Amino acid sequence: MLPSLAHAREWTAAGVDVTLIDPQRWLYYSGMVPEHLGGVYAVNDIRIDLRQWAREGGVTFVQAAATAIDPDERVVSTADGGTHPFDVLAVDVGGINPAVPRAAVGTKPISRIRALAPILERVLDDPTGTLDLAVVGGGAAGTEVALNVTGRFVGAGRGADLDLTIIEQDAQILPGFPDGMKRHAARLLRERGATIQTGTTVDSVDSAGEGGARVETAFDHGGSVTLRPDVVLWATGAVGPSLLRESGLSTDERGFLHVDRTLRTLTHPRIFAAGDCATILDLDLDKVGVHAVKQGPLLRHNLNRSLQGGTGPATPAPKTALRSFRPYPVAPLLLSTGAPQALWTAGPLWAAHPWLLRLKHWIDRRWIRDYAPGAWGQVGWRTFLGAEAASSGSAVTRPRGRLPKKDRDVRRSP
Ligand SMILES: Cc1cc2nc3c(=O)[nH]c(=O)nc-3n(C[C@H](O)[C@H](O)[C@H](O)COP(=O)(O)OP(=O)(O)OC[C@H]3O[C@@H](n4cnc5c(N)ncnc54)[C@H](O)[C@@H]3O)c2cc1C
Repeated sequence: MLPSLAHAREWTAAGVDVTLIDPQRWLYYSGMVPEHLGGVYAVNDIRIDLRQWAREGGVTFVQAAATAIDPDERVVSTADGGTHPFDVLAVDVGGINPAVPRAAVGTKPISRIRALAPILERVLDDPTGTLDLAVVGGGAAGTEVALNVTGRFVGAGRGADLDLTIIEQDAQILPGFPDGMKRHAARLLRERGATIQTGTTVDSVDSAGEGGARVETAFDHGGSVTLRPDVVLWATGAVGPSLLRESGLSTDERGFLHVDRTLRTLTHPRIFAAGDCATILDLDLDKVGVHAVKQGPLLRHNLNRSLQGGTGPATPAPKTALRSFRPYPVAPLLLSTGAPQALWTAGPLWAAHPWLLRLKHWIDRRWIRDYAPGAWGQVGWRTFLGAEAASSGSAVTRPRGRLPKKDRDVRRSP
């Protein structure tokens, strides 16, 4: 969506009324959020001001959640009671955690996870503070957050004050990733005192007074255990927000909008969807930012085409000149580890190395620099090589040092 927002001035200058609907003023860049929780980035380093972008583009910003889409009447309703007619609509609402309990902090929408940051800061600011944190879901998001939080406590000499448990229903954390990478991440976590409870399902999470929670878990092989953490992070994947299914537009079994490769919905050619909330019919893509980011310029182009030649109901939808999405053959992923190394993976390949962390920082900062120019200035090649500081000056800590040789590996899993 961001490339479209950045392009909006051209549309509004041509007389198009553009409205951005989002309940959040700030868009947090998920690729940097785990390191924000790990104390590497301050909040202003990782967020984009949607209100400011809207103002600069001449866009009307409605700060409210969309609650309903009527594709035939061409109206979006919002939680503040507003109704917003449209000729062309782009939906990019992401995913939500399924069944997130009241007593847990969710990871999706990504703004939710920010609630963990002040909790960590409060504990670390108090020399007698301790934290018992349960992370439900050992996928990429849960594991990367756990790695960064444990790394932060250990780095601050407070490893003993953190009791972190990852609960994962699969036999290992990072299901679907190469075996060696799973073992590597698990070893880092265990070395920092974390508990990894695999083959375990969470049955319920309830408030347990004094802000804590009561987590009932069941083991695959029988038996159960009750945990009483101070905080529960709910990192269990994503489903589509209910407004997508309720719109009557075609959705997949998880409630994400079906679109064709041009990102158009199947029945309404002037309604587009992109990012996590869209499932491209003949492609089986993971819900990862790599794909969402690649779809951004394509969405802008295709919206542009749809706006040309009029937008009224009588205007025929453009049949040609829309571009089709071509995904990466395999989506590469870089995970920070709360140590001076990152994990990279693509398909069956994986690697862990300090240079990969540099690469991740460089990619992340270059990306967000375009949308939050106040946070990051120059991020050039010299930055990548470490010859100049690429910092907003507000970073809290930065992992340093060299890793033992065994941690600088490039491997292929069997
Ligand atoms: C902790 C974490 C780390 C991650 N790290 C990576 C990574 O390193 N690499 C990677 O490729 N992927 C990563 N991901 C996945 C990545 O976050 C998503 O794939 C990506 O954000 C999808 O982008 P999107 O624009 O579709 O949705 P989102 O980024 O979720 O944006 C959705 C927007 O819609 C708004 N919204 C939601 N509901 C409504 C509504 N009803 N009305 C109006 N607006 C609404 C939200 O406020 C938000 O601004 C990570 C995910 C998490 C949770």
